[in-house]
Amino acid sequence: MLFKPLAPVLAPTSTGEDFPVRRVFCVGRNYAAHAREMGFDPDREPPFFFTAWAETVVPLGGPVAYPPATNNYQFEAELVLAIGKGGRNIALDDALDHVWGYAAGLDMTRRDLQLEARKMGRPWDTGKNFEQGSPLGRIHKADGSFNPDRGAIRLTVNGQVKQAADLADMIWPAADVIRFLSGLYRLEPGDLIYTGTPEGVGPVVVGDTVEVHIDGLEPLAIAITASAQ
Ligand code: MN
Repeated sequence: MLFKPLAPVLAPTSTGEDFPVRRVFCVGRNYAAHAREMGFDPDREPPFFFTAWAETVVPLGGPVAYPPATNNYQFEAELVLAIGKGGRNIALDDALDHVWGYAAGLDMTRRDLQLEARKMGRPWDTGKNFEQGSPLGRIHKADGSFNPDRGAIRLTVNGQVKQAADLADMIWPAADVIRFLSGLYRLEPGDLIYTGTPEGVGPVVVGDTVEVHIDGLEPLAIAITASAQ
């Protein structure tokens, strides 16, 4: 081999075993109030998806470098589904059986690049898929104690609440997301699905601490540090 291949990101879980991350899928505009704040009228159109490299996952958060080429680096608090059983065209009633566990996550966004791409009809990649863009809290094994369909989701910056909603506000709940996504791709063990963010997204600056709390899951915290070299 010419060089050493990248090792998979290993995400810690509630059982002590690591979850090897395979791919990262993200849902766009899955909360009505957030769709409105982004300039859209949510009307339960089918969900849409974008992707990020597995290497963008930051297990258990911690320091996250302010990325280059942006002046508007924003947080998006999200429930993350960790897929343990693969499948294609998964039925709604079976969908949650494919989830190994659940975690709090952040879909960090270079909003200026995303909005420019949107305006120009270009792909979102540079706005959404970049180093350290997908912090992930500890994955809580699905054991019936956590219900992905309801429960408070909250994000604070330096202790101040910026996003506060309920998972029940999702336009497409977890099972629907799996049903749609598995019609587009064969889901595989190790896939992560970031299920979208509620209203209240906003920018961070170097020195900020961002925390995501979802009832029943371990909180996720990141600290924004100076730009990476
Ligand atoms: Mn998002």
